[in-house]
Amino acid sequence: MSVRNLTILGCSSQQPTRYRNHGAYLVRWNGEGFLFDPGEGTQRQFIFANVAPTCVTRIFISHFHGDHCLGLGSMLMRLNLDKVTHEIHCYYPASGKTYFDRLRFGTMYHELIKVVEHPIDKEGVIETRDGFTIEAYFLEHGVDNLGWRIKEADSRKFDAAKLKEYGVKGPAVKDLEKQGKLLIDGKIVHLDDVSTVRPGDVLAVAIDTLPCPNILRIADSAKLFLCESTYLDEHRDLAKEHHHLTAKQAAEVAKKAGVDHLVLTHFSARYQEAEAFQKEAASIFPNTTVAEDLKQIPFPK
Ligand SMILES: [Zn+2]
Ligand SMILES: [Zn+2]
Repeated sequence: MSVRNLTILGCSSQQPTRYRNHGAYLVRWNGEGFLFDPGEGTQRQFIFANVAPTCVTRIFISHFHGDHCLGLGSMLMRLNLDKVTHEIHCYYPASGKTYFDRLRFGTMYHELIKVVEHPIDKEGVIETRDGFTIEAYFLEHGVDNLGWRIKEADSRKFDAAKLKEYGVKGPAVKDLEKQGKLLIDGKIVHLDDVSTVRPGDVLAVAIDTLPCPNILRIADSAKLFLCESTYLDEHRDLAKEHHHLTAKQAAEVAKKAGVDHLVLTHFSARYQEAEAFQKEAASIFPNTTVAEDLKQIPFPK
């Protein structure tokens, strides 16, 4: 089975620290490599994480504050250097097109890779392809900022005993999946007779926002919810002033939205230890993991 996990390439907010690089998050899932918000230094973080940058297939920029995009240009140049042959899809708020162009063409280089841009100005489903549906919704951050909801296509789980019972074998299984029903030994077999639907998993990413209705929409029943928590509750006034969440607020969203696993990130440099984030969030939502640079977080089926 292909790799399915989240690699934290960095987890600081605006200002990196000795232990936290600018944010960047890689989710490897069904042969794709989704890279979210590549901040400064992302290319080098791949080396420390022991992951080849060539696995990246899609890059998502939530907004154009520097800590979320300064690594975009160097990532594209790196993929160019590595001569990747697959398309690199880039999703970002359409109002930031000027910044995207500056980052993409900021230095002298001859672009050979195929970059497919998806400037987004409307909420909802952005695209359905390659077994995924990508949705984007605007969050509350004082600037155009997108949160992402990515859903894997539903799949069929075949029951071996039922297949045997109904006499479905070999290429007939594929035919049945394609056609929905099949004539076998003079009897019609329906797909539901021998299989069940396995709903696709949802990955939700909300970075830099105040609490808002759309964050619930994004996180609804997500298997993995990557969420910012720049501040602790003791600094909730600062969080409000700068359009950010506290660990407590992120946990409340996770609980309300019925997510499986919450991963907190984007920590203010004022906090040396991440332990307090864990404690604050876990008192509301126990299945919380606090991001750490180079940590690999499983995202099992
Ligand atoms: Zn930020
Ligand atoms: Zn921001």
